[in-house]
Amino acid sequence: MTQETLFVSDLHLTATRPEAVRRFLHFLDRRVRGIERLYILGDLFDAYIGDDDDSWPSRDIKAALRRTADSGTQVHFQHGNRDFLLGERFCEDTGVTLLGDYAVVDLYGTPTLLSHGDLLCTDDLQYQAARARVRVEDWKRNALSKPLWMRRLYARGYRLKSGLDKRSKTYDIMDVNPDAVTEVMRRHGVSRLIHGHTHRPDVHDFEVDGRNCQRFVLPQWDGREWALCWGREGFRREKIG
Ligand code: MN
Repeated sequence: MTQETLFVSDLHLTATRPEAVRRFLHFLDRRVRGIERLYILGDLFDAYIGDDDDSWPSRDIKAALRRTADSGTQVHFQHGNRDFLLGERFCEDTGVTLLGDYAVVDLYGTPTLLSHGDLLCTDDLQYQAARARVRVEDWKRNALSKPLWMRRLYARGYRLKSGLDKRSKTYDIMDVNPDAVTEVMRRHGVSRLIHGHTHRPDVHDFEVDGRNCQRFVLPQWDGREWALCWGREGFRREKIG
């Protein structure tokens, strides 16, 4: 088993982007299988309407994740804003472990905080209010009790609305808030954070309470994506191909 840990997020997989689905399946089978750990930090799916949806590409993705987990690789998942309805059954079917919105993991000796990233965009008050409304058990149970065709229709409407909302917001509002970043890193006692969501891939160096800190932002899968690869020697950005 190779002592490597890979991080990806914001793949936004959906039936209308078969090329991205193919790249992900290839990535799992050719690159991930047999390594130590894979972390998917949310928005694996462009819209997720429930574990009972077995249309394409869901079933192929599930099968590939199952093969990966069966190879001995630990696969961990955090909810994104697009796939927060992903639940227990998906995990049972695939062998994937579901992590909370904030998770601290040991990355070759360094405690590292993982999160999708949307919670850190605290300047977007409209988004945070909408998020708070839907991320409760009652809302989710109610949504999942609707027939699949209705959930599909709703997901289409949501995507349309989300696209329009983004156009009317400023660039800054949709990025993480630096004070929110400092606060969570202090609260979790870490000097390293990895997240996605903003689609602004970068590595940021800064200080919190006199400690050198790093924030890694993962890219979306738009054809130029890379995976963040960590090993004992450090990290590298690895082209998906
Ligand atoms: Mn997101």
